[in-house]
Amino acid sequence: MKQTIFDLSRPGVSGAGLRDPDFGELDPSRWFDAESLRTEPIGLPEVSEVELVRHYTALGHRAYGVDDGSYPLGSCTMKYNPKRHDHLANLEGFAHVHPRQPESTLPGLWELLFHLAECFAELTGMDHFTLQPAAGAHGELTGLMIIRAWFESRGVKRDVILIQDSAHGTNPASASMAGYRCEMIRTTPEGLTDLDALEAALDDSVAAVMLTNPSTFGLFERNIREIAERVHANGSLLIYDGANMNSLMGIVRPGDMGFDVLQLNTHKTFSTPHLSGGAGSGPCGVKAFLEPFLPVPVIRRDARGYFPDEDRPRSIGRVKSFYGHVGILIRAYCYILTCGPQGLRTASENAVLNANYVQARLSPYLPPVFGGRCMHECLLSTTKLQVSAFDFAKRLIDHGVHPPTLVGAGCVYFPGHLRDAMLVEPTETETLESLDRMIEKFLRVAREALEDPELVRTAPHTRDVGKILPSGSRDGQPAYSGPTGQPMDSERT
Ligand SMILES: *Cc1c(COP(=O)(O)O)cnc(C)c1O
Repeated sequence: MKQTIFDLSRPGVSGAGLRDPDFGELDPSRWFDAESLRTEPIGLPEVSEVELVRHYTALGHRAYGVDDGSYPLGSCTMKYNPKRHDHLANLEGFAHVHPRQPESTLPGLWELLFHLAECFAELTGMDHFTLQPAAGAHGELTGLMIIRAWFESRGVKRDVILIQDSAHGTNPASASMAGYRCEMIRTTPEGLTDLDALEAALDDSVAAVMLTNPSTFGLFERNIREIAERVHANGSLLIYDGANMNSLMGIVRPGDMGFDVLQLNTHKTFSTPHLSGGAGSGPCGVKAFLEPFLPVPVIRRDARGYFPDEDRPRSIGRVKSFYGHVGILIRAYCYILTCGPQGLRTASENAVLNANYVQARLSPYLPPVFGGRCMHECLLSTTKLQVSAFDFAKRLIDHGVHPPTLVGAGCVYFPGHLRDAMLVEPTETETLESLDRMIEKFLRVAREALEDPELVRTAPHTRDVGKILPSGSRDGQPAYSGPTGQPMDSERT
């Protein structure tokens, strides 16, 4: 039985403490009134330092990351992050730079950020970038606020954002945070934007249409040029969720497709450790006519050199303190310079090749939902098997593979006609050997699902936490059985 930190607690035990601080006893009543002050102890666990360290180290060993093995979590681009970029971002001059240090010491950082924004602009076909937003969703929000400010500056009131029914959940969330109402556009049976539905929804209340291409089905929107024309003819703007940029680098550019605004997820496409709450960065790019609305400051260059321009009267203001998540941006810069233009293109080509390889090899058991080729991720159906995509994914854990993203019933913003599917994104950083190992594990679970569906339905069996099932659901056996056959307790943490 594994113990929680609270189980380890014994009254009076403590690690090293400041028992005799030389600043005297703190008296919180100097700052807080009586009803704000706690009267009972908070009940934190009381353990020694060594117990605390061992407890969290043991928890750390149970975590799973891309450095442990395949992590084909669709849409999240869990590719390997070269350690060299961490090393470079941790160089003295980067790691210890402070935005409040004398300005005369900062131009080196400004130059790096300026050049990075130029790289992003070239790669995406946009004219200007802000590097401030702290994540993809934050970049979406920034872009939508810029769109709002642009309409307001022209005295036009538009309050609707059209969103694909396949959109990532952050799209409608960002739109409503920016004060918009969302309307869904359905996808066709081929998984593409329904042009008739789009046409019917376009009226003078629509500020913008928000799309990602390739979509979150892993499909390239072939009609994107026509979509852009119709959207612009309606006086609306086109905003791009750039989280899927990993499939397009050096091949096509959202700016050339007709998008006016976009965000990038540097922590996906540009190789930065992420997930589990790690830091991200969501630079937002715009076409020239939207430049005056970018957040302050914008790093600029004039005859004297690089400087942060704060004097921007039409700016939407600040969306993040100082220059954004600089450490993440430095990693992205290292990645771009390390790969170079051809390397970035090769990365995207391999991302698409790997996804198609996985799709082709799995298709006898897990056929692609929409058929045809995919982009950097494949949407596979479990309907041929006797189990749900959810059960399939949980059984993969027993075989040591991180489950893919689940799509279908129960996912709020995924279309209802998509019942049960998995979005598998192998990424370009897996070797052929590791792809083959991962594929073998998928195939093993597929065969298990046909031969012993109950084994798969009750998975995972090897983890400390099992699936919550009605008791006695497996032929009168206890619901949970561990690898050695002993029952596993659902209360385990
Ligand atoms: C990851 C993702 C987002 C959100 O990005 P965060 O950095 O997690 O905020 C938005 N859209 C798509 C398609 C994504 O995959």
